[in-house]
Amino acid sequence: MVQRLDLERYKNTIKGLTRFGDRQQGTDRNREALDWIEARLKGDGCTNTERVKYNFDQPSPPPQPRTSLRAPAATAIASGEIRGGVGGSRIRGIARPTGPNIDPDAQTDPALRILNAQPSTPGPREQVYCTKVGSTHPDEMYIISAHMDGRGYGEAADDDGSGTALVMELARVFSSPDVKTDRSIRFALWNNEETGLNGARAYVEQRAALQGKEEPAGSGMYPEPKWLGMIQHDMMLWDHGMPRADGTINPEQRPEADVNIEFQLKSKFADQSMKLAFFFREANEKYATDYPAAVGSHMTNTDSTNFQDLVPAISLRENERGMQIGAGWNPHYHQPTDRYTAYSDKDFRLGLNAAQTSLAAVAQLAGATLRK
Ligand SMILES: [Zn+2]
Repeated sequence: MVQRLDLERYKNTIKGLTRFGDRQQGTDRNREALDWIEARLKGDGCTNTERVKYNFDQPSPPPQPRTSLRAPAATAIASGEIRGGVGGSRIRGIARPTGPNIDPDAQTDPALRILNAQPSTPGPREQVYCTKVGSTHPDEMYIISAHMDGRGYGEAADDDGSGTALVMELARVFSSPDVKTDRSIRFALWNNEETGLNGARAYVEQRAALQGKEEPAGSGMYPEPKWLGMIQHDMMLWDHGMPRADGTINPEQRPEADVNIEFQLKSKFADQSMKLAFFFREANEKYATDYPAAVGSHMTNTDSTNFQDLVPAISLRENERGMQIGAGWNPHYHQPTDRYTAYSDKDFRLGLNAAQTSLAAVAQLAGATLRK
C-alpha cells in the first residue's frame, strides 16, 4: 500500500490546490478549492463525502502595508536564557520573527495578486470529509486530517497544501476497492484553521456527542464512529534548519531533515497520545523511504488541539511548531512566497515521507488488508 504513494502524484495534488491561491477562509477561492477537493475525493473512490456547516462571524483584520510590519532582524538567544515558545516549548539558538503577511500588495506576481484579491467576509462556512467504512468495526474510526485554508497572499503550498494533499493521497489509497480495513478511517479537510482552529472546533461541537450511535437503529451504519485517534498534518515540506546568525536560511533541505510528530504533554490524553506518536515513529522506521521521524511533546496551534482532551491526538509537521516554526525556521510561513515553485523535490519528498509514515501507521491501526 505504501508503494501506491509516489512523489509526482503528491506534487500534482499540491499543485492542484495552489490554483486557488492562498485559499483564505470566507472567499470564493476558498469555496472553489473546497469544491475541487470534494470532487477529487469522490473521483479517487472516497465517494461518501459530507460537509460540516458552521458560521464564522468575525471580520478579518484590515490589510496593513507590509512596511509597518517590517520585522526586526534575527536574534541570538543568550547562553542560559530561557525563552518560552508556544505549546510549552523553549526557543533556542537563532530566532527570526514569524509575523504573518496581511498585505495583499506584497505579492509580487500580478496574476496571483488578482487571484487573491477578494477580501474575506464573515458568514456561513463549510468543510468536507469522507470515510473509509470499516468492515468489522464500522462504529470506530481514526481521523486523518489537515487544513485546507491558508493565508499570506501566496499559494499556501506548504501551509497547508502539503498536508491537504497528503490526506487526499491517503484517501485515494485507502479507498481502492482492493483495500479492506477492519475499522473506519475518516479523511477530514478543516477550514478556518488560520483564524483559530474554528472549523475543527465546529466539528467537535457538532459531532462529539454522536459518536458510536447507530443511525438508523439496526442499519449497521454509524454516521459518527467512536473516535480512536486524531492525526493532523500541517506544513510538511520545509526543514532547512535553524536561521544563520545573519538571519539568512540554508536554501537547501538539510540532509538530516525529519518529520516531527508531536503530542501535547499537558493534555488529558498525554500518555495515550505519546504512545500513538511513537507508534507512528516506528511506522516511519519500517516504511518511510528517506527521512526519519522524531517525537516531541509540545503539539500546539493546530486542529488536533481541539481533540487532545477527548481522544489520543498527534500532529505531523516539517518542524516542531513551538521551538522551530516558532523561531522562524521557515521563511515562507504565512508569506506571499509560500508558492509551489519555492520547493524542491527534496522538500516535497519530506512530505511524501510523512505520507508514508501516516499511511503505514493507520493501515496497521485500522487493520488494513490488501486483497490479492
Ligand atoms: Zn497551517
